[in-house]
Amino acid sequence: MAFTELGLSPKVLSAVEAAGYKEPTPIQAEAIPHVLSRRDLIGIAQTGTGKTASFVLPMLSLLEKGRARARMPRTLILEPTRELAAQVEQNFTIYGQNHKLTVALLIGGVSFSEQDKKLDRGADVLIATPGRLLDHVERGKLLLTGVDILVIDEADRMLDMGFIPDIERICRLVPFTRQTLFFSATMPPEIEKLTGQFLQNPVQVQV
Ligand code: AMP
Repeated sequence: MAFTELGLSPKVLSAVEAAGYKEPTPIQAEAIPHVLSRRDLIGIAQTGTGKTASFVLPMLSLLEKGRARARMPRTLILEPTRELAAQVEQNFTIYGQNHKLTVALLIGGVSFSEQDKKLDRGADVLIATPGRLLDHVERGKLLLTGVDILVIDEADRMLDMGFIPDIERICRLVPFTRQTLFFSATMPPEIEKLTGQFLQNPVQVQV
């Protein structure tokens, strides 16, 4: 399987080539065409499998059409920790080098005013930890009604950290018509239940 067979845009393919990747990893080969066709997806994969690029690359392709509006992010990626959120942001910088997309990071430990400024400029991609995201929503500075793609990453770690009630709240603030991409290394019953509640006719990919 070659990257060129997956349906990714020329801009994304040239970034992949610049990264020196020869071929997609198994999760990328399976997940990317489904994401591009706007299916909801459950990806059961560990870190190190190339899981991040399996959602970042098709998201970049899909985001090429349209523009961000102030305080209304177009896509939202939830991560359990600041470190993971920062890593995903780095992935957007590397793979999005040919795109003029705005990526905002909302994590604890950074002043609200700095993050407000970023939201005011409009974010194509918002990467956040659940608590900080809800803080911004409660302050009235952030609207999730424009989110077209929602990514819930490392769901089993979210469960371990007690974030499931926050995730449920966030899922209810994002339009029902969104596409949802859900990743977890394991599938305990609580996580299975969450996918039943918040994904629509998902395809499951396991590596
Ligand atoms: P992840 O599982 O998303 O944490 O990715 C693990 C590592 O694999 C990262 O350092 C990526 O740069 C690298 N990677 C992702 N996709 C590929 C690929 N198709 N070929 C080679 N390396 C890759």
